[in-house]
Amino acid sequence: MKNIKNNIAIKLAISFILITLIPFMVLAPVVINNVRKQLIDNTKEIIIEHTATHSSDMEMLLNDLENDVVFLSNLPVIKKIAKNVDDRLSIEILYTELMKAKSTYVQTRYLNNDGQEVVRVNSKNGVIQTVPNQLLQNKADSYYFKEAIKQQEGTVFVSPIDLNMEGSPPQIEFPYKPTIRFGAPVFDETGSINGVVVLNVDASEFLSILRMGDDSNEYLILVDSNGFYLSHPIKEKEWGSPIDLDTGENIKKDLPGIANQILLGEENVVVTDTSIISYAHVSPNENADYGRWTIYSTYQKSKILAPITTILIEISAIWLIVFIIFAFLVFLISKRFTKPIIELSKGAEQFGQGNFKERVVIRSSDELGQLAKSFNVMANQLQQLYTNLENKVRERTQALETQKNRLQVILDNLPVGVFIGRAPDGKAELVNKRGIEILGKGLDPRAGATNYQDVYALTREDGTLYPSKELPLPITLKTGLISIKKDIYVIRPDGTRTALRVASAPILDSNKVMIAAVAVFEDITKEIAIDKAKTEFISLSSHQLRTPLTSIGWYTDMLLSGDAGKLTKAQKDFIQEIYNGNQQMVNLVNTLLNVSQIDLGTFIIEPEPTDLVKIAKSALSELTSQIKQKNLKIVEKIDEQFPIVNADPRLVRIIFQNLLSNAVKYTPDKGIVTLEITQENKNIIITVADTGYGIPKNQQNKIFTKLFRADNVREKEPNGTGLGLYIVKSIVENSGGKIWFTSEENKGTIFYVTLPLKGIMEKKGTRSLD
Ligand code: ADP
Repeated sequence: MKNIKNNIAIKLAISFILITLIPFMVLAPVVINNVRKQLIDNTKEIIIEHTATHSSDMEMLLNDLENDVVFLSNLPVIKKIAKNVDDRLSIEILYTELMKAKSTYVQTRYLNNDGQEVVRVNSKNGVIQTVPNQLLQNKADSYYFKEAIKQQEGTVFVSPIDLNMEGSPPQIEFPYKPTIRFGAPVFDETGSINGVVVLNVDASEFLSILRMGDDSNEYLILVDSNGFYLSHPIKEKEWGSPIDLDTGENIKKDLPGIANQILLGEENVVVTDTSIISYAHVSPNENADYGRWTIYSTYQKSKILAPITTILIEISAIWLIVFIIFAFLVFLISKRFTKPIIELSKGAEQFGQGNFKERVVIRSSDELGQLAKSFNVMANQLQQLYTNLENKVRERTQALETQKNRLQVILDNLPVGVFIGRAPDGKAELVNKRGIEILGKGLDPRAGATNYQDVYALTREDGTLYPSKELPLPITLKTGLISIKKDIYVIRPDGTRTALRVASAPILDSNKVMIAAVAVFEDITKEIAIDKAKTEFISLSSHQLRTPLTSIGWYTDMLLSGDAGKLTKAQKDFIQEIYNGNQQMVNLVNTLLNVSQIDLGTFIIEPEPTDLVKIAKSALSELTSQIKQKNLKIVEKIDEQFPIVNADPRLVRIIFQNLLSNAVKYTPDKGIVTLEITQENKNIIITVADTGYGIPKNQQNKIFTKLFRADNVREKEPNGTGLGLYIVKSIVENSGGKIWFTSEENKGTIFYVTLPLKGIMEKKGTRSLD
């Protein structure tokens, strides 16, 4: 029951999880991707603009400085100094004022046409000083002089940023003092050059433009046209310029794949897997031969995306909490909904276990409430039905019990033993009183389990155990046929011995299926004793009758032979009749004697090498007169080379005599009698066929019983005892052979006999058959 509850509630909760989870799982990656893309795109735009702003700021500043130098070179006071060197004071004042106003300038100079410094004002740590005359130098060899003096009117020379190497040989000042120089020639009214104005700018201050915002410690990176760093957050990387030191620090080394794109490209942005790099070019001077500078900055994508990752984690966490709460709520709600179902299934389970008193209580008026009501109505009806059924079963059981008792009483009073064994194993179901007396109390099913120690042994006449599968009941259980046996004996522990006739028959149900077998046991000890006495009486009396009959035979034979004198024709005829009658009597008495020997089991079998063919032919010749009389055709299918076999010649003769005489006797005139002796496998096969009256179908099963004669021959052939085939069958079966026949009325009969080719067994007894 617990399972159902959990199952439904859990299933609902799982369904909820799936319904909510699947869209989330499908949509989340799409949304996340879009957001990422958007963010990257936005950032790209912002940083491009940011870099562009910085580059234009720088260009503006450069312009400012250029303008300063152009302005100075055009000032009358400067122009005038070309003519009057003594007026340099006004230039010193001018320079000093300029440097006060703009701290960017660290040196301002005026050089004459020969490169000789005429005026130089230095600014160091905010202190502005005019350099005395004796310290002024000739800068004719300096590159900035050479470049500046070449300029046209209105154009300016802007130097690359250098480290302000002074002295001879030039020394790099330390810490580095990056400097840019702006120079412009001074023209007189005639247009010839009088000197050069040179302004040195502190590049480090100028580079502060590259700072990204006030609070930021990050800088944009500035590289020259060869990719050397002019400004870099890592100071060691700076100034690897070929003019000064080749430290090897270069954008081409740090960003190998994309350096050229940054230095030469115009797109302003390069996007790699991990970063976005925005760049912009700065042209300090269109005429400058060292090309242009590039400023750029690198943005790590991971940093850009960091906010969404955080948001994602937050959303996932919130969603997870909400989801767990919802799943729990769904679980609770479904539990509430499943409660009535559980009640119902509990009720149903109780019902299943036969507890029909169980009722379901559900107070809601919804479908489940209705279902519970219907369930209870059904329960009432079922309970009613069940009670009725129980009563009926009880009544019926009682009736059956009574019936069974009555049956038992009836059976117990029967004078025969009855044993009912169930199919297919034959276990005792019912044994009546007499049955228990006969078979032993161990078989009584009323005593509980069968106790085979208390079952008496069933034996053959000679005391050997009767094989159980040859007993009638097992035969019936196996074959479904009736089985009757009279040669079963039961020996009790006290030594008493009872002869039994056991007959068993199948018990079939309405579908003709065998459900049991019944065996009836009859004590035939007395019957057998009487039979034996009768047989012994017949044996004795026929034996006694043989002596007088033999002497009658002899004497009548002698009379007929004329030993007592010549007889008249009438006398001879009469005596011949007496002789024939006596002969018949002798035959009959012999037959009776044979039968009694067979019944008593006392006849002898004495095997010896026997010529079957010879005996068969001799038996046939004895019938010559009848054959002729009836004009019968005899067909012999006999192998002349038939082997000599070990058999009792007397018994073989009886077999041939009976079968052949019957065939002749029961075949009308002009019929055919066929005798065949063959061998097949390990058997001799004797076949006697005729075209005679045949045996009616309904009497064929009785043909081998004692004294039986079929209806169809009794009138036609009044001579007959009905004992011949009984004797033949006994001989054949005692010799290890078989006998059977096929017959059709008015068409003929074929008798078959088999005998073992290896010979027959000897049997001890008191007398041989004649
Ligand atoms: P009997 O011939 O003396 O009557 P048997 O025991 O030899 O006794 O035969 C029993 C019966 O079997 C016969 O009475 C006859 O009805 C039937 N029978 C035996 N052999 C044949 C046969 N060849 N043809 C027809 N019926 C036969």
